[in-house]
Amino acid sequence: MSGIICADCHTWLTSDLTNCPNCNTTIFLDGDNKNIIDRIQPNCLIYRYDGSDILEPAVIIKKSKVNYRVATKLQEYNAPVVVSKQNVYAFNQNILSSIQALRNERTATIMRYDQLIQSHWQHLEPYQDTP
Ligand SMILES: [Zn+2]
Repeated sequence: MSGIICADCHTWLTSDLTNCPNCNTTIFLDGDNKNIIDRIQPNCLIYRYDGSDILEPAVIIKKSKVNYRVATKLQEYNAPVVVSKQNVYAFNQNILSSIQALRNERTATIMRYDQLIQSHWQHLEPYQDTP
């Protein structure tokens, strides 16, 4: 694992530290007192790329009137992504999986068509100017 997050202040840590360098909390990597976050537990889906159909699983970290601050990966706890409320949806694994599967299928189909078109281009002959 590349790193962990202090659950108190959301600072990015390495697992060899005994105290958080930011808030000085004693770090417990395991057990009942565990106070680090070592994996993303998504509780929402976000849409952040206009014009795309990409949905990303994320964790809500902070709420404000018009925005949510979310993390899509551990590193983002420290620098959350700001997403407007209307682009944050309830987490739904079925919808997420379906969309991802269809997106992959679409990519594969586009690649196949590109190859088919290319294979025809390869048979084009140079134009011969008759003297
Ligand atoms: Zn801390």
